[in-house]
Amino acid sequence: MFNALVVNKDDEGKTSAAVTQIGVEDLPEGEVTVAVEYSTVNYKDGLCIGPGGGLVRKYPHVPGIDFAGTVEASEDDRYKPGDKVVLTGWRVGEAHWGGYAQKARVKADWLVPLPAGLDTRQAMAVGTAGFTAMLSVMALEDHGIKSGPVLVTGAAGGVGSVATAILANLGYKVAAVTGRPETAEYLTGLGATQIVAREEINETVKRPLEGETWGGCVDAVGGAMLARVLGQMEYGASVAAVGLAGGAGLPATVIPFLLRGVNLLGIDSVMQPYDNRLRAWERLAKDLPMDKLEAMVQPATLSDLPQLGADILAGQVKGRVVVDVNA
Ligand code: NDP
Repeated sequence: MFNALVVNKDDEGKTSAAVTQIGVEDLPEGEVTVAVEYSTVNYKDGLCIGPGGGLVRKYPHVPGIDFAGTVEASEDDRYKPGDKVVLTGWRVGEAHWGGYAQKARVKADWLVPLPAGLDTRQAMAVGTAGFTAMLSVMALEDHGIKSGPVLVTGAAGGVGSVATAILANLGYKVAAVTGRPETAEYLTGLGATQIVAREEINETVKRPLEGETWGGCVDAVGGAMLARVLGQMEYGASVAAVGLAGGAGLPATVIPFLLRGVNLLGIDSVMQPYDNRLRAWERLAKDLPMDKLEAMVQPATLSDLPQLGADILAGQVKGRVVVDVNA
């Protein structure tokens, strides 16, 4: 038997989460059984620890949308016991039991080998949020980053923190948007050259085009903030749209696309093919300074998760929470 954070739903639809002992026979089907070492707390985990937000298919449920650990048993030739592996995406932690347990059983196709240069804890300090930040930077690079600073919204959160550190390390000027002025020192420590207050940008579009200010943008917030940012982009610049922490609506006009050739690039970390996942992880091992990554980390255990799930939904988590499932 081993520990897992199990979420249950009662007859009235109320959910509760508790650390519970389960057995290997309880795990869902899959070719590879992994002794999980670390998982993390992402926005989707907050939803899945709570009422599910439409993500959880059936209860009882073990959340945790990412994990890193060591293969314990494998029916697939690509993996053998002792191999270090990482998992993000594929609706693990949503439709399939995830990383908030000391063991997980998954399809071999969903895993990637731990990239050289990262240990399992560092891989989860990166986690889904950092992996998505890297995909965003790669998408911006593919479309060309212009001369102005690159704007990162939701900068003190998980995606924002890693995006800030990667972009700064690559030599770009980074303007970090935050609603928490107390995180300014943290963000400049990650390499941000400019701090922008959330309220300076987070308002409904007044004019569809403003000054050409940003050479690119990684947007974790969506909603009114994304709509406003579109009209502030340089000619031909791109916005990597990652998240909706500030809302799913988009009260924008088509003018920035028509008159400034702005590109809106949708970023999805869940269904990335194996080669893309490997490429993004290799870039992370190379382009993300480990001392910056360490500065983002807040350690946690399985029993901390119910509170941390609520905190991340309230926009109160700074950087990346790394869960040591064996602590
Ligand atoms: P976090 O909660 O760590 O970060 C989100 C940040 O957004 C907060 O820290 C806060 O930053 C800011 N924020 C929160 N609420 C608001 C608001 N109402 N208005 C403006 N800003 C707000 O989450 P993650 O970084 O893990 O994820 C960010 C988003 O990206 C989520 O929507 C998540 O679901 C999505 N996501 C998408 C992925 C994909 O594949 N497309 C993968 C991973 C995440 P600050 O305090 O600095 O203002």
